[in-house]
Amino acid sequence: MKKTEKLTGGMILIMSLSFVILSLNGCTKDNNASASNGNSQNKDALMSYNYSDTTLSGCNYCIDSLPVEPLSTSETEALVIMREEELLAHDVYYTLSQLYTKPIFRNITRSEQRHTDMVKALIGKYGLVDPAANHLTGTFTNQSLQTLYNNLISSGSTSLINGLIVGATIEDLDIRDLKDHLLTIDNQDITCVFTNLMRGSRNHLRSFYANVLFHGGTYTPQYLSQDEFNAIVTSEHETGFGSCHCN
Ligand code: MN
Ligand code: MN
Repeated sequence: MKKTEKLTGGMILIMSLSFVILSLNGCTKDNNASASNGNSQNKDALMSYNYSDTTLSGCNYCIDSLPVEPLSTSETEALVIMREEELLAHDVYYTLSQLYTKPIFRNITRSEQRHTDMVKALIGKYGLVDPAANHLTGTFTNQSLQTLYNNLISSGSTSLINGLIVGATIEDLDIRDLKDHLLTIDNQDITCVFTNLMRGSRNHLRSFYANVLFHGGTYTPQYLSQDEFNAIVTSEHETGFGSCHCN
């Protein structure tokens, strides 16, 4: 009798412990599963640049609602060059998307179309002549951009990894140029758009750089300082704050 009670007690204890352990395991497994789903979704978004986009109307609102302010020479020059610099990014990624199936190229192509459209809207708002009014893919009014385009296409066409490095190069340049322009710009609408283009470029740089590393390559910044570059690529994808987002 005593023995049976002991045995039963022992079995209940073992069963209870097993239940607790199984429950804990179950819990841990669930947590891991959802955490790894979350991570793999983040990783997928980073590698493919398939972030959801709800930002276009915010930027149009920004351009329409902010006042027309006097335009300085440096602001005029910044708008004219950035209209074509964003188009250069678009045309390079579009051309590379025809060579390589990796979704990052076609997804960022769409993003660059929005970027150049935002600058075009500012050019229209201020009554400037659009340097890309009759744009043909790969043809630029600014001859420095034309030379850059030709060089980037010839390098990026040689292999997928070189295509990805070309992506990192464009974003590296774009961030440096936008940052320099912002030093001399004070109109609210241009500041708003350029700040958002720069955030988009930081996100693009994170994705291109992650792809370069994934394919066993390396990238050393050519325009940004190593510290600036590191600060960007080690930080998370940025979403917009406020009413103007152009990712
Ligand atoms: Mn851009
Ligand atoms: Mn970009």
